Amino acid sequence: MSQPPGQLTFVAPRRAKPARHLADLSMAERRAAVAELGEKAFRADQLSRHYFERLTTDPGQMTDLPAASREKLSALLPDLLTPVKELTTDGGTTRKTLWKLFDGALVESVLMRYPDRVTMCVSSQAGCGMNCPFCATGQAGLTRNMSTAEIVEQVVAGARALAAGQVPGGPGRVNNVVFMGMGEPLANYKQVIGAVRRMVDPAPHGLGMSARGITVSTVGLVPAIAKLADEGLPVTLALSLHAPDDELRDTLVPINTRWKVAEVLDAAWAYAAKTKRRVSIEYALIKDINDHEWRADLLGKLIKNKLVHVNLIPLNPTPGSKWTASRPEDERAFVRRLQFHGVPVTVRDTRGREIDGACGQLAAAE
Ligand code: SAH
Repeated sequence: MSQPPGQLTFVAPRRAKPARHLADLSMAERRAAVAELGEKAFRADQLSRHYFERLTTDPGQMTDLPAASREKLSALLPDLLTPVKELTTDGGTTRKTLWKLFDGALVESVLMRYPDRVTMCVSSQAGCGMNCPFCATGQAGLTRNMSTAEIVEQVVAGARALAAGQVPGGPGRVNNVVFMGMGEPLANYKQVIGAVRRMVDPAPHGLGMSARGITVSTVGLVPAIAKLADEGLPVTLALSLHAPDDELRDTLVPINTRWKVAEVLDAAWAYAAKTKRRVSIEYALIKDINDHEWRADLLGKLIKNKLVHVNLIPLNPTPGSKWTASRPEDERAFVRRLQFHGVPVTVRDTRGREIDGACGQLAAAE
């Protein structure tokens, strides 16, 4: 299935929903769910600790629960993700997992271990409706939204592998989560916010991560950015800009036909003002398409003196695309132009290209 150029899909096709999971629920909802199963409400706290702190769903390990309760309570911990394929590179410190969901939908997540931290790149939708022509996920269209627990499970799976010492470098923890896998997180707003809450809420409520370590990356759904700013969750906002002018951005990021560069940048500045968080501008450098020095100059003028940081991403190849990464000299000139305007800029060290696990390469095929 492929989408006609420029077509946007906001509403996910109606599909059967995945089974209800502990991670879908707030603590109050978990207590109610446990009571419905005929168990004492405080069992919800115990079960939550097993899942979020000890990272286990195995009733056999829940020795603080009576045997009969374990069986009943395990109804709240259904298996949502089945690993289909695992590919590793960088000596095992980058690993991409292909997951099958209960209805056969496929998604991918990527774990990246650096000397000082571990970042997990997670999916928020199976497929994507935003149709950016340089992104492999966008070409396949939107299959469905993921549930909160399906999103959280990707992080828990990574945390488990790290805790068990399965990733070279010894036992470790997930420090950062980036919503840069498959999907447009702000088009699946409610489930994504639920997942972020589970990630930042302290145990037994959730995983107890720092909101600062979580990055929500968006094509620029302006009303949703405004809403996110009011959640009281100081996550990092990444805006996939890719062009400073509407004419080009209309084609590279089709959502630009709804919300223009000026509008989306205003939304980003409002986000920065409210959260005091530096906004990250993502810009994939595509040879002879968006890497001209005059575009760097225009971008610099638009964003200078703002609470901002530019992340340049050398374009990763995707099947069927004629586009490639910029020449090194053009990349350097682009960086220099932005620096001339005093804009902080880095070039992303792209991991996982060898396993089609880098930005824009997640297409989830078996
Ligand atoms: N839908 C969200 C998150 C997923 S993509 C978004 O667009 O922001 C994560 C980042 O990878 C985005 O900045 C996206 O534009 C970028 N990207 C997509 N395809 C790419 C490619 N082929 N090479 C480099 N970056 C790419």
